[in-house]
Amino acid sequence: MVLLKNLIVIGQGAPNQLKDGRQSVCVCACKLDSKELIRIYPVPIGWLRKWDIFDAEVEKNPRDHRENTWKIKNSKQDWKKIYKWIDRKEEKYPDKNKEGLIKSIGFSVLSDLIDNKKSFGIIKPKIENFELEQKNKSTSKQLTLNFGDEQDLDEPFTIINQKDYKFKPYVAYKCAGNCKCKKKVHRQSISEWGCYEFMRKNPGKEEQLKDNLRLFDPEWNVYLLVGNIHKAPQTYIIIDILRFKKKEFKK
Ligand SMILES: [Zn+2]
Repeated sequence: MVLLKNLIVIGQGAPNQLKDGRQSVCVCACKLDSKELIRIYPVPIGWLRKWDIFDAEVEKNPRDHRENTWKIKNSKQDWKKIYKWIDRKEEKYPDKNKEGLIKSIGFSVLSDLIDNKKSFGIIKPKIENFELEQKNKSTSKQLTLNFGDEQDLDEPFTIINQKDYKFKPYVAYKCAGNCKCKKKVHRQSISEWGCYEFMRKNPGKEEQLKDNLRLFDPEWNVYLLVGNIHKAPQTYIIIDILRFKKKEFKK
């Protein structure tokens, strides 16, 4: 068992269903002292939000050998009592420090992440394209979970697995820096939860995601948090699009 302290949530993917039916998210957190990026998976929905500060008691997952990858202690038995192992702080990470934190983690190019078997990295991209790929006829909302009051949530969530959405968003980009990948343009899916929430709440307006994500907006700095996937550790997807309004454009 390991106690990880002073973690900041940098990103989390949209929910997925585990084989045993549990709904979970994958959390990417930054250790404030070492600036290492770590994966905690699975985590029950609604426990952690982006920029939350927390401590967690974790253990190795014997079936997942990706770098810096942990599961919450006893998570299966304590799935509904996960507060035993996650200590979320009252305060969130301050807005004014967020972009500085991302910069202090440092930027990577995709070939370095692959060569060093990194679980995560932050890439400064040159965005080439945004696409919505249609996966289903419509978004199916068969799962509605209304959590009891043991979960500290503002509203009940309608939970839809990523694979049940009508569209899946993709970004094509080149890395800023010396990327040694043969293909210089990387096309990766976005798993950012906020994108899926937007698509759930705004059916028919999915195209607006392109603007919401500020991918082509000169007033914003955009960084991609990418992470590798379990079944194919050399394949990376976009966990979160970190976007910060440039100082000169702030009111
Ligand atoms: Zn690259």
